[in-house]
Parts: sequence; structure tokens; C-alpha cells
Amino acid sequence: MVRFNSIMKAFGDQVVLNELDLEVGSGEKVALIGPSGSGKTTILRMLMTLERPDAGTIYVDGDPLWHMERNGTTVPADERHLRQMRTKIGMVFQQFNLFPHMTVLRNIAEAPIRVLGIPRAEAEERARHLLDQVGLAGKADYRPSQLSGGQQQRVAIARAIAMRPKVMLFDEVTSALDPELVAEVHAVLRDLATETGMTMLLVTHEMNFARDIADRVLMFDQGRIIESGPPERIFTHPENDRTKSFLRAVL
Ligand code: ADP
Repeated sequence: MVRFNSIMKAFGDQVVLNELDLEVGSGEKVALIGPSGSGKTTILRMLMTLERPDAGTIYVDGDPLWHMERNGTTVPADERHLRQMRTKIGMVFQQFNLFPHMTVLRNIAEAPIRVLGIPRAEAEERARHLLDQVGLAGKADYRPSQLSGGQQQRVAIARAIAMRPKVMLFDEVTSALDPELVAEVHAVLRDLATETGMTMLLVTHEMNFARDIADRVLMFDQGRIIESGPPERIFTHPENDRTKSFLRAVL
């Protein structure tokens, strides 16, 4: 579903990703862990088409993301191709970025109506279903400011899913929340992970959450994947010394 092929990315002199190769299968849940500044968010931002790789190719659902075929040759993607590829990818950020002037229901239904052309009644019915799924069935007519941070983040998750992306990206979705609100958001994501076949990439500092939800954990350091494997092994028998010291510090 997602493939990074020899991806290079630098900001000025600083190489952030170095010859990165990464494959994520359809339906797979992958947690990206590692120290701050090791390149995890840059990976998600490239998939969201917010950062362009300097070299290498990224594929999503079999199609090149930043490139396209034209007259038999591979050329940089134009805006139309990027727009089409963006519909395959949904992202939830630390900050929820809900539209403050819209009700919860409209926050979820608006993009499916405007971007996907789904009739309003159908989009709103699905939005209600999604609200139910994230445990907010009674909140359809509320404004975001009337909800707690955890509730707002659950709306943001429903809004992303409403676009029916093939791949969902979660970037430290609970780090802006008060500790007592973290569990409810984790619970929603755990349910989504087990009940849907969605492909998920998650950047997280919460190792228990990574352990619960991920099929595979990737440990990053200085723009490289230095260790990867199922969570049971990475968290109980890490092999790399850098992974060991990182986990000692955060667990
Ligand atoms: P992580 O998510 O692992 O904390 P990031 O991918 O956010 O790491 O960042 C990797 C490195 O790239 C960091 O040193 C960061 O400062 C740098 N970086 C990220 N985005 C930019 C940018 N737009 N301009 C300059 N440097 C950046």
C-alpha cells in the first residue's frame, strides 16, 4: 500500500532521511518510534504531499506519489495528480484543526460533500455513523469549542475517515491532550485498528499504545530505520543498542 524507495530528504545541509526504504502492506498497522528529530514526521509529511523528497520514489496504492507517467516517461507530478493522490491519504495531527464555526456533523460531512461529491443526506448519515463509532453519537450539533480536547480529537479522527482514505496517518495524536483524555482517544484508535482493514502509520511517543495497536514497530534514529519487528520483540528483546537506550529512557 505504501512504498518508499531510496528516499533522500535534506533541509539545507541537514540530511533528514538517508536512502530510506520502507514498505507497508495493505491493512498493516505500523508504529514509528524513535528520538525527536529522527525523521518520523517528515515521512508522514511526504505522504501528505507537504514535503517533496529530494531523491527516490514513493508509491501509494501502486501509483507513484510525487511522480507520474506521461507519454511513457516518468515526470514530476503536477497539481492534478497530487490532488488525486491526496484523496488516498488521511491524516490526524496533534492539533485537531476542526472548523470552529461549523457543527461537529458539518465538520465531518463537509469535505465528502464538496470534494467527493457525495449527496448531503448520505454524507450526513455516514457522519452520524462515524460519530457513533468514535463514541460521540449525541454531539452532532455541538460546536468544537463545546467539546473536550479528547472529544475534539475523536471528531478529527471521524472527519479523516469520512474521506475513505486508503492510508491513515496519525502524528502524535494525543500529545496535546491532558493525560486523563489520552485513554479515550487510544481506545477509539484501537477499535478502528481491529475493526477496519485500514492501513495505518502512527508516530507515537507512547510505547504502550504502540505495543497495543501495531503489527510492526520501526525504530528510527538519524533518518534511518535501525530496527524493526513485531512489538512483542522490539519492546521485550530489542537488539540494537540505540533502541535499548531509547526504550530504557521512555518506558
Ligand atoms: P521527528 O518526527 O522524528 O521528531 P522530524 O521529521 O520532525 O523528526 O524532523 C527531522 C529533522 O528535520 C529535525 O532535525 C527537524 O528540525 C528537521 N526539519 C523538519 N522539517 C523541517 C523544515 N521544514 N525545515 C527545516 N528543518 C526541518
